[in-house]
Amino acid sequence: MSTTTPDAEGESGQGSGEGEVTGYGFATQAIRVGQPSESEQAHAEPIYATSSYRFASAAEAAARFSGEQPGNVYSRFTNPTVAAFSQRLAALEGGEACVGTASGMAAVLATTLGLLSAGDHIVASRGLFGATLSLFSNHLTRFGISVSWVDLTDTTAWREAVRPNTRMLFAETPSNPLCEIADIARLAQIAHAADALLVIDNCFCTPALQRPLEHGADLVVHSATKYLDGQGRCLGGAVVGDRQRVGEQIYGFIRSAGPAMSPFNAWVFLKGLETLSLRMAAHSERAQRVAEFLAEHPGVARVYYAGLPHHRGHEVARRQQSGFGGIVSFTVAGGREAAWRVIDATRLCSITANLGDTKTTITHPATTTHGTVSEAQRQAAGIEEGLVRLSIGLEDVDDIIDDLARGLPAAG
Ligand SMILES: *Cc1c(COP(=O)(O)O)cnc(C)c1O
Repeated sequence: MSTTTPDAEGESGQGSGEGEVTGYGFATQAIRVGQPSESEQAHAEPIYATSSYRFASAAEAAARFSGEQPGNVYSRFTNPTVAAFSQRLAALEGGEACVGTASGMAAVLATTLGLLSAGDHIVASRGLFGATLSLFSNHLTRFGISVSWVDLTDTTAWREAVRPNTRMLFAETPSNPLCEIADIARLAQIAHAADALLVIDNCFCTPALQRPLEHGADLVVHSATKYLDGQGRCLGGAVVGDRQRVGEQIYGFIRSAGPAMSPFNAWVFLKGLETLSLRMAAHSERAQRVAEFLAEHPGVARVYYAGLPHHRGHEVARRQQSGFGGIVSFTVAGGREAAWRVIDATRLCSITANLGDTKTTITHPATTTHGTVSEAQRQAAGIEEGLVRLSIGLEDVDDIIDDLARGLPAAG
């Protein structure tokens, strides 16, 4: 299956970063790459709400099905709105190809099942998103894929965990919820020395703040549900990388297995991408202010935000990111009771585990996102009872700060 350019006739379900609009800056590409060609000359990208496509003749149908002739066949694997999203995200991440998926987890699933076989081994960071942890340890293992877990920032542990059958290193940076930072270039060296692939989940930074492929990663996975949408409306995901692995192997898996992105959701993500760089800069600026406020507050024991100079990932983050993002975590003295008091005292922040929204969200990881993890594992991961995670939205930052101050003990 060939990849398509933004102006190519007959779009497919995957995107290529190449096209007439490359060469422009990030914000321009986020708005201009991936305009489906269509006869009504609509200015906004149309939503192609169709499951299938008509063919001019039996011969054309045969040529389309065989892949001899590029073009639309069936929306599980070819849809112009999904292709437009994929082309745009490929351009923004600097990848040759991109496929859209039904959710972020579908992107992780397609990346692993599309590329790995029984007997293969993955090295992954311990602090991965909960559903990724569960997919790897409870499901992939049933198909003969083994996993070793290491600390995200411990480069020696990554190197030592590699075995002859290691095919993939998988990491999220910055991590959730403690904003740990992995050195992508060093992980890429370890992966490539072992003839393995480095996969980075770029959900927290998005390509507006970090482009892992430029640092040597082979593949980027996304939960589009978070910042790519940016307003908490739709589930979706994506994988970006080279034409062979993404454009053929992972795309082929999605074509057969079916975790496809819906055209409506693709359209929402297209609109989300158009404001991505503005939003990520605004999330980062507000998060920095909130982190600085918390760092100076006597009721706060510790703040986890790579934008603070004392954070141990600060220097690496400065090198590989163009901003520190919108996720801030902090611990209050007094354990769960004190953490819940801060959460319950808020009137503005939404108590929900979702992130990447215009609305600021607040959550208690130890009893929600990490609630099913054993106490020992939580401690190893640094998820204390007093920990609170924030996803800083786009409200006025002073209102966010006032809201957090309500439940913190008064100074003195
Ligand atoms: C939410 C999330 C996912 C999963 O995405 P869904 O769209 O919810 O399936 C994967 N990785 C990270 C880092 C996430 O935050």
